[in-house]
Amino acid sequence: MRKIITHSTIALTALFLTACSQNEIKVPEAHEAHADSPTHHAKHWGYSANVGPKHWSSLNEKFHMCSEGKQQSPINLIPTKDIDLAPLNINYTVGSKSEINNGHTVQVNMKSGNTLNIDGTTFELKQFHFHTPSENHINGKSFPMEAHFVHASADGKLAVISVMFQEGAENPTLNMMMKKFPLAKNQEQKLEFSKDYLNTMLPSSLDYYEFMGSLTTPPCSEQVRWIVLKKPISASKEQIAAMHKEIGMDNNRPIQASNQRVIEE
Ligand SMILES: [Zn+2]
Repeated sequence: MRKIITHSTIALTALFLTACSQNEIKVPEAHEAHADSPTHHAKHWGYSANVGPKHWSSLNEKFHMCSEGKQQSPINLIPTKDIDLAPLNINYTVGSKSEINNGHTVQVNMKSGNTLNIDGTTFELKQFHFHTPSENHINGKSFPMEAHFVHASADGKLAVISVMFQEGAENPTLNMMMKKFPLAKNQEQKLEFSKDYLNTMLPSSLDYYEFMGSLTTPPCSEQVRWIVLKKPISASKEQIAAMHKEIGMDNNRPIQASNQRVIEE
């Protein structure tokens, strides 16, 4: 097992706000309200053919930002401003509650109390989930898998930490998650693991890029703080394949226009 980092005692070197998308937070989730209606379900967003990313904005008027937004995610990260960002102030001190395959991704829901502090604002970790292959690219490079740690503040602001995966050693937390694969769709399964496991999902260096973006899934809401960690962590080739199989498709939204956004590092 990899070395565990005690975030409460180490000055973390990276603050990444990565905003991805996910449904559990205080973000309007247009599809959940009618998820059990077969008629509406036929128009549910997805990743292929007539419900794929190019069509999201036409599936539901609430998804208009997916085509109209000017700060959409994911992007190809090319740093534009070196300002020596403050260390990331992560305190993942609790652990997880459950996991679910929601039809778009595999998501681990958290117990309350895992926090990220940015500029005096506390964000609570709500869940993390996976994309295979990665959504964001770093200097033109794609990764075989990316995890998004979705945080929300008390007033509903979002911050996402993105962690890239490369092929290598097994990740112990993924092993724990995968014991329950295949998951029945949309059925939350109890999955409790400790903060030590949770922290194996972060690299030893927390250096990061920071920029403003959006959810990468409908409704593509903006004003999401993205924190993309520079250093990838490893998962075995088999684990990455198992995650892709469980998700059942490539679930990466295509790269969006940067529109001269400032990418800080
Ligand atoms: Zn995501």
